[in-house]
Amino acid sequence: MLLGAIADDLTGGTDLALMLARQGMRTVQVVGVPAEDFDFGDAEAMVVALKSRTIPAADAVRLSLDTARRLTAAGAEQIIFKYCSTFDSTDEGNIGPVTEALLDFVGDAVTLACPAFPANGRTVYRGHLFVGDLLLSDSPMKDHPLTPMKDANLVRVLQRQTKLAVGLVSHDVVSKGATAISHAFAQASEKGEQILIVDAVTDEQLRAIGAAASGLKLITGAAGIAMGLPDNFRRAGKIRGMGEQSSFPVPTGLAVILAGSCSTATRRQIARAMDAGTPALKIDPMGIADGSITVGSVVDWIRSAEQTPLVYSSADPKDVLEAQARLGRDRAGALVEDLLAQVAFVLRQHGFNRFLIAGGETSGAVVNALGLKALLIGPEIDPGVPWTRSIGVDQPVVLALKSGNFGADDVFIKAWNLLQ
Ligand code: ADP
Repeated sequence: MLLGAIADDLTGGTDLALMLARQGMRTVQVVGVPAEDFDFGDAEAMVVALKSRTIPAADAVRLSLDTARRLTAAGAEQIIFKYCSTFDSTDEGNIGPVTEALLDFVGDAVTLACPAFPANGRTVYRGHLFVGDLLLSDSPMKDHPLTPMKDANLVRVLQRQTKLAVGLVSHDVVSKGATAISHAFAQASEKGEQILIVDAVTDEQLRAIGAAASGLKLITGAAGIAMGLPDNFRRAGKIRGMGEQSSFPVPTGLAVILAGSCSTATRRQIARAMDAGTPALKIDPMGIADGSITVGSVVDWIRSAEQTPLVYSSADPKDVLEAQARLGRDRAGALVEDLLAQVAFVLRQHGFNRFLIAGGETSGAVVNALGLKALLIGPEIDPGVPWTRSIGVDQPVVLALKSGNFGADDVFIKAWNLLQ
């Protein structure tokens, strides 16, 4: 194994695994900290997906360090810490504390932080993160249920989360290419800066940053930052694959869509699916709390549907705030996550083995409930959203784990065609 990655949520892990597989590395995604005796097989890249984005910072640090130890012991020469391309975090963390701990673990002086992912409209310019044409702080991320992002200046955001000095490698340098970028890393390090936000607005710049980062032991960012890394191993003669769209045998069985993401993209996708005639059931945390919505009632409704059904808790920011005010932020989220996870568990016993899940936290909860430990990356539905297939379980399931903001408006409709 050459490259080991720690992702702070499941859909983020899938997104990164897809990027590495497309760039020619044999990639496996593992769910949760791998056991001591985990068989890494012939994987060249291993992406371990945690559920550590919104847990207490100390827990996120511990899980990330445990994972880094396993990956390093299995041979990983470089570690990636993957977080969301919208830098989802709070002032307490977890991007800063985890980066700090991992940098100390790998024993390097400096690392970079680059959430840019131009294919999905995330660009970083002069340290400011844009979502399409909007600053992060003007984007729908300002209303995220768990990690509202109200500041687009990433140097400032990250500096609030860490005691290490945060610096910036700005566009003027990045546009000059890999040599200039690695020179800037060295200069910043001499100044005592240890985490560098790096501007990037194009894939070409991400590849140049990747080349400049070949000597760094730790790299942090979104999936885009991995674009240039496999080439470093290829140049060194350590990998041969050029990357291709992988496919896998699909088990026959029943299908369902479960959406716990409240992002605007997911809400548009739900509307489009309903317009196209998808049977849909809305659930909400208040209904779950008062017992009017139960696992049994949702499962019964799903099993009675005549076409692939959709269950969603997705709501607009006003309704989310109201539920949070009544139940508390964490409890409102947990009620929905637990219910959808238990629904998936019961459905599997009734012959459902094709799951399309919307939402990073939601996906993590479902995969845990299904007891899945490793996923093979398959065909890509939309940028960053592949189908995956469980590895190492008797009755395999296929899952598409969609980060809330990802996917085209018709993703819930067209995804199934790739499983034919
Ligand atoms: P995304 O990928 O869009 O961030 P996540 O699943 O990671 O989606 O996060 C959405 C969070 O919001 C989850 O914890 C989910 O349980 C919670 N949630 C979903 N629907 C509601 C709702 N109607 N009210 C309050 N919280 C909700």
